[in-house]
Amino acid sequence: MKASFHSRRDFLKTTALAAASLPFIGGLSSCARAAEPGRKINFALAGLGNLSTYQIAPALQKTKFCKLAGIITGTPAKAEHWKAQYGIPDKNIYSYDTMEKLADNPDIDVVYVVTPNALHANHAIKAAKAGKHILCEKPMEVSVEKCQQMIDACQQAGRQLAIGYRLHFEPNNLECVRLAREKVFGDLKIIDAGFGFPIGDPAQWRLNRALAGGGPLMDVGIYALQAMRYISGEEPVCVSALTTVTDPVKFKDVEESIVWQLKFPSGVLAHGSATYKVPGIGSFRASADNGWFELAPAYYYDGIRGRRSDGEQIHFPAIDQFAAEMDDFAQCILNNQPTKVPGEEGQRDVKIMMAIYEAAKTGKTVNLA
Ligand code: NDP
Repeated sequence: MKASFHSRRDFLKTTALAAASLPFIGGLSSCARAAEPGRKINFALAGLGNLSTYQIAPALQKTKFCKLAGIITGTPAKAEHWKAQYGIPDKNIYSYDTMEKLADNPDIDVVYVVTPNALHANHAIKAAKAGKHILCEKPMEVSVEKCQQMIDACQQAGRQLAIGYRLHFEPNNLECVRLAREKVFGDLKIIDAGFGFPIGDPAQWRLNRALAGGGPLMDVGIYALQAMRYISGEEPVCVSALTTVTDPVKFKDVEESIVWQLKFPSGVLAHGSATYKVPGIGSFRASADNGWFELAPAYYYDGIRGRRSDGEQIHFPAIDQFAAEMDDFAQCILNNQPTKVPGEEGQRDVKIMMAIYEAAKTGKTVNLA
C-alpha cells in the first residue's frame, strides 16, 4: 500500500473505502462480540520491559476502548508485581512457553508483542495461532521472511496484525503529512531525517545482532525512514549507505552510526542518519520548491514541535501516542476495519533497512524497485 500515511481527512476517507472493499477480517465470534455495546478490547502484553512498564501499561489506563487484561512474561517476579499493580487474574498470566493455552482464553483479544526484535515472529505467530489479534512493536522483525511468516500466520488465523507505529497517530507528524500532500510549499525535493542517542549498558540486547537484527538503524533509524516514506508518500527506488564504528569494543556486533540516501520515483532525495553514539539527533526537515517545514524534535513521546519557512509554528498539543495507537487498533477490531499500520507496512521498512545494510556492506547502490 503506497502512501499509507495520508492527511487526517484523506485517512478517514481512505479507511472507509478500504473497509468497504476488503474481505471480512476476523472470525464470526469476534464480530458477534464486537456488536456488544461498550465492549472493550482486552490486551495481553508480551514482554514486561521498559516500554511495557513505563509507556504501554500506563497508556492502557488512558484508553477508551482497551483494557490491560493479561501478561506474558519469562520473569515470574514481574508477574507477581504486575498482578498486584493492575489486578490481573492468575488465569490471564502466561509465560512464552504456555502461550498456546491462550487459545482457551476468550478474555484476551489482542497480544501486544513488546519483546526484543528477533523474538517478535515467534511470539506473534504463537499468539495468532491461539486466535489472537496482534499488535507488534517496531521493527516488525529482523528479516523480510520472518515478517512474511507473521503476515501469513495472522491471515490464516483470520486475525488482524498491526505494527506499533505510534507517530501515525501523532498530530504534529500528521500536520507535516498534510503540508506535503497539499503541496503547501510546492513540490518536495529533499528530506533530511535522523534519530539517535548514546546507548548505555554494553550488555543489552540492542547491541546483540542475534536479538536486535542490527544497530541504531533498526532501533531508531526506522523512525527517520518512516518519516521519509510518510512525508514523501512514495516508496524508494534505490538506496546507498555508509556505517562507522569508532568504539569497536562496544560495537563489535552492530553498527555504531549509519547514514543512508534514498531516491524516490518523483525525484525526491532523502538523507538519513541513525546513531548509538551522540545525543541530540531527532528531527526531520522537508524542503520543497517554495519553502520548508521541519519537526525538531520529531519522534519523542512528547514535546514534538516544528517550524515552517513562512515563520509559522507547528505545535499541536501532545497526546498519549500509545493510547491513540491502541484505541485505533481496538476500533479496527470492533468495527472489523483494516488498520492503517498493517504488517505489510512493517515489512516494507524491514525490506528497505535490509537494502540499506546491503548497500553499506557492498558500497554499491541497491535497487529496490
Ligand atoms: P526491554 O529490554 O526493556 O524489554 C524487553 C522485554 O522482553 C524484557 O524485559 C523481557 O520481559 C522480554 N524478553 C523476552 N526474552 C528476552 C530476551 N532473550 N532478552 C531480553 N528480553 C527478553 O526492551 P524495550 O521494552 O525497550 O523494547 C521492547 C520492544 O519495543 C523492542 O522491539 C523495541 O524496538 C520496541 N520499542 C518501541 C518503542 C516505541 O516508541 N514504539 C520504544 C522502545 C522500544 P519479561 O522479563 O517480561 O519476559
